[in-house]
Amino acid sequence: MPVAKGYAAAAAKASLAPFTFQRREPNDDDVVIAIRYCGICHSDIHMVDNGWGNSVFPLVPGHEIAGVVTAVGSKVTKFKPGDHVGVGCFVDSCTTCAQRDVDHEQYLPGLVLTYSSFEPGSTTPTYGGYSDSIVVKEGYVLSIPDNLPLDAAAPLLCAGITLYSPLRHWQAGPGKKVAIVGMGGLGHMGVKLAHAMGAEVTVLSQSLAKREDGLKLGASHYYATSDAATFTTLAGQFDLIVCTVSSTIDWNAYLSLLKVDGTFVVVGAPEQPVPVHAFALIPHRRTLAGSMIGSIKETQEMLDFCGEKNIVADIETIAMADVNEAYQRIAASDVRYRFVIDMATLG
Ligand SMILES: [Zn+2]
Repeated sequence: MPVAKGYAAAAAKASLAPFTFQRREPNDDDVVIAIRYCGICHSDIHMVDNGWGNSVFPLVPGHEIAGVVTAVGSKVTKFKPGDHVGVGCFVDSCTTCAQRDVDHEQYLPGLVLTYSSFEPGSTTPTYGGYSDSIVVKEGYVLSIPDNLPLDAAAPLLCAGITLYSPLRHWQAGPGKKVAIVGMGGLGHMGVKLAHAMGAEVTVLSQSLAKREDGLKLGASHYYATSDAATFTTLAGQFDLIVCTVSSTIDWNAYLSLLKVDGTFVVVGAPEQPVPVHAFALIPHRRTLAGSMIGSIKETQEMLDFCGEKNIVADIETIAMADVNEAYQRIAASDVRYRFVIDMATLG
């Protein structure tokens, strides 16, 4: 079995430390990938902390994987050695139920996460992208356009698709006013993507500290939500609001910013329930919705769109050994806008 090197948390809330483990023996339909870069997603930190109670240890995080194909199984047709590829949040999905052919496998039971799930039919945990290699079924490998640098493309695999999917589903485009709540790893991708789709983009951020960046990335307007006047000025303005923050905010106040038939989409997950008044929705036929990553088909569509429009994440590259410090900086919102681990530093 192929031996992989990586970094793992041995138990909940443990620091990440060097870890050697075995990847599965490649099957006929598998692609073997040398991981070059892996983005750090906020959910990696939640999973290391066992914040959602479902973490499997030892835990090798990482689901924003960008690398190069080193070998393919005999039945693989879409990839060859040398290809630039990505792996996102899941590496397998439902293969038994009748819905398996629909294009939203991320919502089906039986989803196998890139890390902290189990290999199908086995008690071996799946291990993520903070490592030097991974073996993934062809159907779950994404093609990264050659014009995109692999380091800055890595965050597209989670942050990118998390924003692209709701923006497409709720038809962000010319003539639409879209607000992005939060200007972090997810939010900055939302600004770039919604702008590239042709929508008029407004950032709603706690302060104006990142205003210049927001305008540079494609926002036309930037408002501080700490200023109560923002909510009166923007009342009833938006077709679509995508909320990327995981802190508890007053959703009723944000719902009041929607037009008739407007939609507020939650992609950030607050730990506590958020109360919503029926009358924040009823009088304007508003919708409160959620969205989670995207299907494989849609993720490939997103990567192709980013290749065409030359969109990548704004990143800060770090060495593997600095990952624990990076986690602390993310907790303090001290990153513009995504950390990416350079796997060449794994040694
Ligand atoms: Zn993620």
